[in-house]
Amino acid sequence: MSPSSARPTLVTDVARSPHARLLPVPVGRVGLEGELWGRRGEAHLLASLHQQWEQLEATGRLENFRRVSGRSERPYAGRVFNDSDLYKWLEGASWALARGPRPDLARLVDQGIALVEGAQQPDGYLDSYYSLERAGERWTNLRDNHELYCAGHLLQAAVAHRRATGSDRLLRVATRVADLLCAEFGPPGSGRRPGIDGHQEVEMALLELYRETGAERYLALARHFLESRGHGLLAGGWFGRAYFQDRAPFREMDRWEGHAVRAMYYACGLTDLYLETGDRPLLDNLGRLFTRMVSRQIYVSGGVGSRHDGEAFGEDFELPNAQAYTETCAAIGSAMWCHRMLLATGEARYADLFEWTLYNAILPGWSLDGLSYLYVNPLEDGGGHRRQHWYDCSCCPPNLARTVASLPGYLYATEGEAIWVHHYAQGTADVDLGGRTVSLTQRTRYPWDGRIELVVNGQGEFALHLRIPAWCAEGASLTVNGERVGPPPAPGTYAVLGRRWRPGDRVQLELPMPVRHLEAHPWVAEDVGRVAVTRGPLLYCLEGVDHPGAVLRDLAVDPARPLSAAWEPEWLGGVVVLRGEGRAHPLPAAWEGRLYRPAGAGPTAAPRPVPITAVPYHAWGNRAAGPMQVWLRRG
Ligand SMILES: [Zn+2]
Repeated sequence: MSPSSARPTLVTDVARSPHARLLPVPVGRVGLEGELWGRRGEAHLLASLHQQWEQLEATGRLENFRRVSGRSERPYAGRVFNDSDLYKWLEGASWALARGPRPDLARLVDQGIALVEGAQQPDGYLDSYYSLERAGERWTNLRDNHELYCAGHLLQAAVAHRRATGSDRLLRVATRVADLLCAEFGPPGSGRRPGIDGHQEVEMALLELYRETGAERYLALARHFLESRGHGLLAGGWFGRAYFQDRAPFREMDRWEGHAVRAMYYACGLTDLYLETGDRPLLDNLGRLFTRMVSRQIYVSGGVGSRHDGEAFGEDFELPNAQAYTETCAAIGSAMWCHRMLLATGEARYADLFEWTLYNAILPGWSLDGLSYLYVNPLEDGGGHRRQHWYDCSCCPPNLARTVASLPGYLYATEGEAIWVHHYAQGTADVDLGGRTVSLTQRTRYPWDGRIELVVNGQGEFALHLRIPAWCAEGASLTVNGERVGPPPAPGTYAVLGRRWRPGDRVQLELPMPVRHLEAHPWVAEDVGRVAVTRGPLLYCLEGVDHPGAVLRDLAVDPARPLSAAWEPEWLGGVVVLRGEGRAHPLPAAWEGRLYRPAGAGPTAAPRPVPITAVPYHAWGNRAAGPMQVWLRRG
């Protein structure tokens, strides 16, 4: 679609945030053509939003709102935080409306808003679980029951809807809720109640509402909630304080711990607080936690939160494959944090992780038809882990919808007289730069191909910053109008092209994408003796369906025998497949019926050559059920 027809909408509006380095180019100014990142098209997004609406209805989530307004006699249905699924859906649908007119979707959005309006209490309170029969129990279990978490998602939905449509309708509801929170909660001595929510979310939501309205009280309340954490307000319960990141104040934390989605949403709120206040030690500690996370706590996919127990970060290097939890929402939270850190610092490492996480930890959670999802994302599976159309606890599907719907807002940014290109995808952008509009056209088949042509339609002097991904170890090459510029830009940085531009100038960026084998730190026990296969920004895996008769655990690849890449338009909706020769190491018969034996005993069987076919990890689980493996035996 053309970007000019849509409403310019910032997902994270740091236009007046005094400590933001970069200002994103709004959703409505960026058009994605052909393949949307990772092959998810506009049609799939809309199909997904409609399918999710049907699930919200079928599972009683919408009925919960109707019963509060007296239009239903049915009992409350589902989890205590089910309201948040409608709010996340409204946010996603709003970003979709910012990308272009969608009358059918707009009608559903209006229906959803009417349900929310109808459930608001006279004093502004809104939570369908704590209305009616539980009205006397408000604010009695902030640790476990997500009351402020749900309110946070309402605030985010309202901000998105206002930005996308210009309507104040949902924002009026949300500001009444936020004002009630301001009246209820506050620091000691304020006469208001103490308390923070067990699940972070309301913090970044209040900060975005502050950006939208300019009302300082929302900033103050967000700061109060963030600074109240780590002092034992969430003590007790099954998991202990670390689960809630309440074991120590943030400034004393030296690693992420506990529930991964909470941790990442906490990180978003803290980064938002820095963007508004310039609290440098806060940013410095966020940077240290990021460094520790990417060097000890993250999967090769970019997924975080390895433990099923508590949906939590494990110990350093505790990264099991079949037992990987890596909730889709945790990856989304990590990407949202990367986005904020990028806006604050302009450091390429945050855009690098955003990209890697998007392709390899977020998109795996969404089926190729957009209609089913993964909540848990193992890196190895025997064939039993399958996608579902919905979940009892269904946080991930609407989280995917709001993320994918807002993707155009993550590609570009400006900084004074400079345009930053963070990500590569076929499409166009109209960038406001110092009172003029610069139109950019990207022609590329990225992520399948590393050639990117950027046509710059703008006049005068400005700089173009182009991200050279950290994975591009072979070195990028860069030309303007066919002439090579400067020394080869270093991977993991932004190449800066400062010049006087003329309309139609052509920038060509070449990012070589050889097949690469990665190995893990020796302390990641499950990956010892194994390699993972990547190409460009994509992680690959083997699926049993491509290796009939083989046992994936017995298959090995040799980094010295590179796999070759081939575009397969008929596979998985069109993907680059990697093929080559591997080896099967058949299990010696001596192991039959044994689990252990004296080390070094017995002969090993000779390997035999076998054809290997690797597919992008984000596309796994879309065909017949069967084994899947990311980390492959080496040899
Ligand atoms: Zn989730």
